Amino acid sequence: MFRDLARTLLHESTILARLDEIAARITDDYRGKDLTVIAVLNGSFMFMGDLLRRIPLPLRVDCVSVASYHGGTESSGRVTFDQISLPDVAGRHALILDDILDSGLTLEAVAAKLGGLGALSVKTCVLLRKRKERTVAIDADYVGFDIGDEFVVGYGLDFQEKYRNLPCIAVLHPDVIRAGLDAPAGASPEEVPSPS
Ligand code: 5GP
Ligand code: MG
Repeated sequence: MFRDLARTLLHESTILARLDEIAARITDDYRGKDLTVIAVLNGSFMFMGDLLRRIPLPLRVDCVSVASYHGGTESSGRVTFDQISLPDVAGRHALILDDILDSGLTLEAVAAKLGGLGALSVKTCVLLRKRKERTVAIDADYVGFDIGDEFVVGYGLDFQEKYRNLPCIAVLHPDVIRAGLDAPAGASPEEVPSPS
């Protein structure tokens, strides 16, 4: 898995040190308030686990499952909700957690859904924010790191469902991406040749 990486952008220790800071801010901002954290799966599962264990508040946790990439390295522009039952945020403050702010379509779609469910407030927190123009005018309230406009994997983020378990954030070898995109639809990751 590690030999597929061209470069590590953020080491685990760097990520965790930054989560200490964000968690402290969130703890201050939501003390005494009824908070529900809504994690956008699958990409934010590791971020959620590491961030939330640093927030000593009696919060609730819920998840929504959405997809916008559909196997490629560019947002398809379509945000699909995979979950039938939506979180109960009526009368509570909602904080959406996502792995990365890219086009902005995902955060906007989730924020709009929760706003329509009677949340007292809706804020957003992302681990990564890409420096680029967004498709929709949305920014995150809490941001871990600003990164360049390139496709990254690890720490929850995938390429064709692989690399989510990497402890760091990294850029894949272009050959690995090319091989993955060229592989016939439905091929398992093991069938995708790695660069030598
Ligand atoms: P947006 O809707 O803002 O375009 O994209 C948000 C979603 O697209 C993220 O939650 C993430 O799942 C996916 N995404 C955006 N950029 C990247 C990236 O560089 N790498 C990976 N693996 N996923 C990304
Ligand atoms: Mg995502």
